[in-house]
Amino acid sequence: MAAGVLAFAALGSAQHSAPSPQAPPKELPKLEHFNTANVDSKAEPCEDFYKYADGKWLEANPIPADQVVWGTSSPLQLWNETVLLQALEQNSADNPKRTANEQKVGDFYFACMDTKTIDAHTAEWLKPELERIASIKDKPGITEEIAHLHQTIPGAWAPSDNQTDAALFGFSGQADFDNASRNVALIDQGGMALPARSFYLDEDPKSKEIREKYLKHITNMFVLAGEPADQARADAEVVMAMETAMAKAAMDPVARRDPRNLNNKMSLAQVKALAPSFDWDLYLKIVKSPATPHYIVTSPAFFKGAEVLLNQQPLDHWKTYLRWQMLHGYAPALSEPFERENFDFFRHTLYGAQQMLPRWRRCVRTTDGNLGEALGQVYVERAFPASSKQRVLQLVEDLQNVLSKDIEAADWMTPETKKQAQEKMRATLNKIGYPDLWRDYSSVTIGRSSYLLNRAQAAGFEYQRWVNKIGTPLDRTEWGMTPPTINAYEDPQTNTVNFPAGILQPPFFDPKQDDVVNYGAIGAVIGHEIIHGFDDQGRKFDAQGNLRDWWTESDTKEYEKRGKCISDQYTQEIPEAGPGVKQDGKLTQGEDTADNGGLHLALLALERDLARQGKSLGEKGPDGFTNLQRFFLAYAFTWCEHYRPELIRTLVLSNPHSYSKYRVNNVVSNMPEFKKAFGCHDGQKMVHINFCRIW
Ligand SMILES: [Zn+2]
Repeated sequence: MAAGVLAFAALGSAQHSAPSPQAPPKELPKLEHFNTANVDSKAEPCEDFYKYADGKWLEANPIPADQVVWGTSSPLQLWNETVLLQALEQNSADNPKRTANEQKVGDFYFACMDTKTIDAHTAEWLKPELERIASIKDKPGITEEIAHLHQTIPGAWAPSDNQTDAALFGFSGQADFDNASRNVALIDQGGMALPARSFYLDEDPKSKEIREKYLKHITNMFVLAGEPADQARADAEVVMAMETAMAKAAMDPVARRDPRNLNNKMSLAQVKALAPSFDWDLYLKIVKSPATPHYIVTSPAFFKGAEVLLNQQPLDHWKTYLRWQMLHGYAPALSEPFERENFDFFRHTLYGAQQMLPRWRRCVRTTDGNLGEALGQVYVERAFPASSKQRVLQLVEDLQNVLSKDIEAADWMTPETKKQAQEKMRATLNKIGYPDLWRDYSSVTIGRSSYLLNRAQAAGFEYQRWVNKIGTPLDRTEWGMTPPTINAYEDPQTNTVNFPAGILQPPFFDPKQDDVVNYGAIGAVIGHEIIHGFDDQGRKFDAQGNLRDWWTESDTKEYEKRGKCISDQYTQEIPEAGPGVKQDGKLTQGEDTADNGGLHLALLALERDLARQGKSLGEKGPDGFTNLQRFFLAYAFTWCEHYRPELIRTLVLSNPHSYSKYRVNNVVSNMPEFKKAFGCHDGQKMVHINFCRIW
């Protein structure tokens, strides 16, 4: 199931200076390091700490045209991509001395960069795909095409936080909720290309405007595929009507946050009874699905809705929907007009990007996204020394020890529940940097002539890998992020915390900085992931990763009271997202709990660490700031980033993370230590009336 992650995944976009150079850099860019010279001493820390800590940097570093997010971790994004680029450029020449992995990643990158071939062959590549769909004659034909799209477009195996962006639904092997030691088949809702179901249903003017632009985008895609304009518009309306019906039937993202709502065990006969018009036997046969103890259907109501569509919509409408799903899924690998049209809606309208990223960056990212563990080995060799791995592991264990003491000291928990919590924490597997065993890509064929085919090959491999898990024991050592990723995650079912090498770099982990800075930066990240195991979602899983209620009734009540303090605090207007846009604190409660608990843990751990060295939080450094102040400043520095307003709106309405400014201000305002550090008093904005605290 979806795991608690640190940041907005896959949006990371960054570079060192504006505007972005189209040509690949010749050397590694400079990284951003924490420095109190960035503090805006004219701002008032107790009124807006984010402005005080980050305002000066943000003012001096506007967002480049091709970026949607721009902050202190942006140079790291470019740095990581440049490390990968150097390896890819070495391997992209057709050289018989390349290893098998070097050939695959090198040729994947080469074919992606070869826009001349892509532009010249797009029509020829699309022709058989359009013909396949045109020749569908009956309902089994719809099933066949959905299976084909799942096997050729990246992502059909991956239930996301909200829904799968895959034709009609998502399918994969996932840990069983009741017995996490084994994988079963999971069938998830999907089929919608907009970021969340509310995008189809909300009635405010901005939502309507976005839907009108979406209709226009679908129309343009059909025109590019050869349809006359009138027909294309009529077809786009069919797609919109079908996706809107799916959105109405889909489960709400807040309801999806409770894993008990997703754990609907069914036999194949029951799955078939839900949506008899879909040929399940045929689908399972095509995707070579292994035997499963049972199926988990995350959202039965969604499949009842799909059944209505299968029954009532004419075959032609389904062909139109599938044609759109195909064009949408293939667009990033097609000719420039398709890519531009795709950019125009999904990156410009929804996120606010003014210009496309340079081609080399898109190709580095897609190589990482599709063949991540073949490419990631080079990143680890070049960028992640054993000393970093060692130190980060120490930090993780240090924070876990502190949490153990924190649990013991919690006056609202009964001894029974504390015992279970301690057991869960002790059973957590800490994964740092990269996998011990790298994925075997020997069955993936990558060539130099068709980027679209390469992408389909990699997507098919990845899809099959997930399907093949069905019926097998759970593997806790596998990674869900690639090594150069600037992110981290906790997975409740494997009971693991995972920190890719990509985030274990400045400004998050900085071997050149002292402990105070590192606890405030990477320490808070580590604490965040550890706390996910005990947020409103994570706490429902036990030490073995099973969905099991190990809380006494009174402990649950106490927990929920504290959780409500957080979700109420974060249910707020977000002026940066546009007039009237409000965050739903119930959607972000898990991430907010992790932010609050994570920083608290990091501070407790730092205090212990300083005491061991005979130092204290109150001591001043040469820059005139106390250690306690530097800790909070270092934390704020990692979240120093601006977003385009379009992106903020899209995220507030669809993403479980709070916007950076509130990840700083709402967290520090819950900490009496912050109040003390900056001499704030009651009534000031950074002093929350009720200090919310769970962990
Ligand atoms: Zn998180």
